Amino acid sequence: MAEHDLSLREAARRGLAGRCPRCGQGALFAGFLKVAPRCDHCGQDFSFADAADGPAFFVMSFAGFVVVAAALVVEIVYQPPYWLHALLWIPLILAMTLLPLRPVKGLLIALQFHHKAAEGRLAGGDRP
Ligand SMILES: [Zn+2]
Repeated sequence: MAEHDLSLREAARRGLAGRCPRCGQGALFAGFLKVAPRCDHCGQDFSFADAADGPAFFVMSFAGFVVVAAALVVEIVYQPPYWLHALLWIPLILAMTLLPLRPVKGLLIALQFHHKAAEGRLAGGDRP
């Protein structure tokens, strides 16, 4: 499949599944968050993939909003002891940050691939 034939929906699906954004068969990751150097199925080079802190930012923002809002509501309504807050919110924040981190990173890399995103360059080459 040519790169420009890939729909946004299919690219997002492949990224969320941790699959190669080009062929959808090979693995995108070589570890929990480490991107493989290339696709083991089609040979697509993944050196373009640089999601940087994007996945962590989106995941932390969403999880922080949900957990802090839930903790505030529970505190206002029930006023439980602090140990119960720790028992409730620490596992929830761990689950809400660690579980979606890899799919979100895959999604951002797949979107980079789909939109052919690259580092900014000045028009006219490498002249200063
Ligand atoms: Zn591939």
